[in-house]
Formats: sequence, C-alpha cells, structure tokens
Amino acid sequence: MKQGKLLYAGKAKSVYRTDTRETLIVQFRDDITAFDGGKKDTLKNKGRYNAGVSAFFFEYLEKHGVKTHYLQMLDENRMAVRTLSMIPLEVIVRNVAAGSIVRNYPFREGTKLDPPVVVIDFKDDSRHDPMLNEDLIIALKLATPAELRKIKKISLEINRLLFTLLAKQGILLVDFKIEFGRQGKTIRLGDEISMDSMRLWDKKTKESLDKDVYRFNKGDVMTTYNRVARRIMTGAARPAAAKKKTVAASRKGAGSPGRAAKPKTKKR
Ligand code: C5P
Repeated sequence: MKQGKLLYAGKAKSVYRTDTRETLIVQFRDDITAFDGGKKDTLKNKGRYNAGVSAFFFEYLEKHGVKTHYLQMLDENRMAVRTLSMIPLEVIVRNVAAGSIVRNYPFREGTKLDPPVVVIDFKDDSRHDPMLNEDLIIALKLATPAELRKIKKISLEINRLLFTLLAKQGILLVDFKIEFGRQGKTIRLGDEISMDSMRLWDKKTKESLDKDVYRFNKGDVMTTYNRVARRIMTGAARPAAAKKKTVAASRKGAGSPGRAAKPKTKKR
C-alpha cells in the first residue's frame, strides 16, 4: 500500500490517502495536547503506544461483532483503515464520575454511574465541542434518529466489552470518547481508542493510567503509557511500583478491607 497525500492533520494524528480510495492511513504522532491545545508536547514513542492499544481494542471489538474502520497495522505508528465519512460527534460513555462531569454537575469524583451515562458533544474545536442533545443533533442534520439510536447502542456495547476486558487486568474503565463514521449505510467506529481518549484507573489504588497524568502533572506520562499499554495488551502483571503501592495500601487498610479501594473525592 502506497502512502499518498496528507488529507488531514489533527492534534495527535495525521491521515493520509493511499492508492485506493477505500483505504486511508492513520499515523499516530508523538504529539500530546490537553486543554483544547493549551498544553502541548512531543514525547518520544507516545504515538506507538496509542497506535498499539488502539489496534488491540479495534481487533478485540471486531472479534466481538463491532464494526470498526481498522484494517491492519503497517508499522508501529501507522494503521491502515477503511475510508469513512466521519460524523462530527464525540460520544462519551461514563461509568464513574470524573473530569468535566464533576466540574459541570454536582457529582462527586469516583461516584459509580449505573447505568452508564452517555453524553454526545459536537466535534467543533472553534466552539469548544459543546454538548448536544437529540433534538440538536437532528436539527443540525448530524445524524438521523435511527443512526443516533444505533450509535448509542454500539457505544454501550463497546463500553460493556471494554469494561469487562480491562477489569480482568485490574483496570477500571472510568470513561472514554469515541467517534463514528459512515461507510455507505454502515456505521463504523473510527478514530482511536487509547490512553489519550480514555480515563483508566488502577482498580485498587485508583491511580490514573491515562492522559490525566499529563493534564494534571501526576507523574511521567510516558512511563504510565508504556506500563498500561503492556498491561492492556499482554495481560502482564501489575508493574512493580504499583504493586508495591497496592501492598502498602492494603497493609494500611488491614482491618478495614474497603479502605484501600475507596475512591478519591478530591476535586480536579
Ligand atoms: O473532559 P471530559 O471529562 O469530558 O472527558 C471525558 C473522556 O473523553 C475522557 O476520557 C477524555 O480523555 C475523553 N475526551 C477526548 N477528547 C475530547 C474530550 C474528551 O478523548 N475532545
């Protein structure tokens, strides 16, 4: 497959044409941004961790009946995908209250959301991705009511699959953002699913294992991405540092078994 012209460059990925119309190449760059691009850096190897985790999730979801744009990895940073006509919606599924939902509504961080909360934002940087509702989505002709029902259904199915998969690795899927596109009449999952687009907490320590480490200077983000990518993809044992912390936390909590696992309530 030949890489052609640059079609689109986002904050952390670039999309290229190929010699076939139906196929595009997504390059995961080493750029990382937060707060609407207000914080930016380039971190060596970041692209390959997100590409690897995205490919792993896409393959897993395809195996479980979810239609995605994923075709194959071309090298550590580049993914061949089906050409989709992207729908400018950001679908956010939340299992635990964190991030903007805690800032904007009276939820305490760490509160379980059962059933999960689905929020849909308008993907428009110039308007800071405002939240939509069904009426607005229909009025703006972003999706038909039938498409919207389908998008919500697929999003909840993805949540169910990934929540269960990650829980087996001791990871709590707090929330994530996904995007969809059309291939003819078929709705497919596009974009990426990675540490940049998910909130992941260690189930025991509640330590952040995602872009919040970068957003809020919680530690070395590349160490976190490297460890969590391995943990997600290989089911490797908890990294040594986190293991120590967990043991220490459970020792501290001896006699009060729930203590080590209690959610943090600190506001961000
Ligand atoms: O900031 P907020 O709490 O609304 O984010 C919810 C989830 O969606 C987080 O996992 C965040 O990383 C992801 N997100 C994203 N891209 C955006 C907005 C949110 O990946 N533009």
